[in-house]
Amino acid sequence: MERYRYLDPEQRRRMMQRERRRRRRVFLVSLGAGLAVALGALAWLAQGGAGLAPQGGPPEGQVFPLGAASQREGEPGGETSLSAIEIPSWVEEALLDLGGSRTGEKLEEVNAIAVHYVGNPGTSAAGNRNYFNTPGVEVNAHFVIGLEGEILQCVPLDEKSAATNERNRDTISIEVCHPDETGEFTSASYESLVKLCAWLCRQLGLDEGDLIRHYDVTGKECPLYFVQHEDAWERFKADVGAALAQG
Ligand SMILES: [Zn+2]
Repeated sequence: MERYRYLDPEQRRRMMQRERRRRRRVFLVSLGAGLAVALGALAWLAQGGAGLAPQGGPPEGQVFPLGAASQREGEPGGETSLSAIEIPSWVEEALLDLGGSRTGEKLEEVNAIAVHYVGNPGTSAAGNRNYFNTPGVEVNAHFVIGLEGEILQCVPLDEKSAATNERNRDTISIEVCHPDETGEFTSASYESLVKLCAWLCRQLGLDEGDLIRHYDVTGKECPLYFVQHEDAWERFKADVGAALAQG
């Protein structure tokens, strides 16, 4: 405050007061300008962020993995999604409730069809389906074939089933009922199994070489008759091949 030294005390006090006010104004103006710049920058960033999302964000990210997956499999039919496959009239829809053994987890790819036997002689397709739907039960299959050849669908094609251990991730599973301990299927069940496998192969771009037994995954004796009778298993695959050739 050297420059106010020549003034009398009262003048000097007022001058200094004025000087303080001026400085406060300068400070407030600078603060305002600073805030305006900061807000402007934030607004610019917000716009930039929103502008970037549609270009590199979720929409394409969701579409591409599916497209890449079907390209990898080289499916001639160019299947875009498993959910788009129309279920034929000879399959009865009996989907399990979500939340129990049916988790709703998506099946990303299908590389094989897994055949099982229910292991409980004389039980029906509906009975096995209802068992899968029982709270606390952790197994199920996409399809169950009954003793009369009836086919029930329990899990949608685009969801994972719980039948084939580590191959649940890339298989469609079929459980087949059987009248006795040998595990041999009735001719009606067998015919439905051939028909269903041929239809699935056609829809999924697979062939009879892509049929597997639960046994081929874990060594479990399932389906029992096809494990104990290798020739019957080979004949079954040939029958599916013949049905495929017929179209
Ligand atoms: Zn099995």
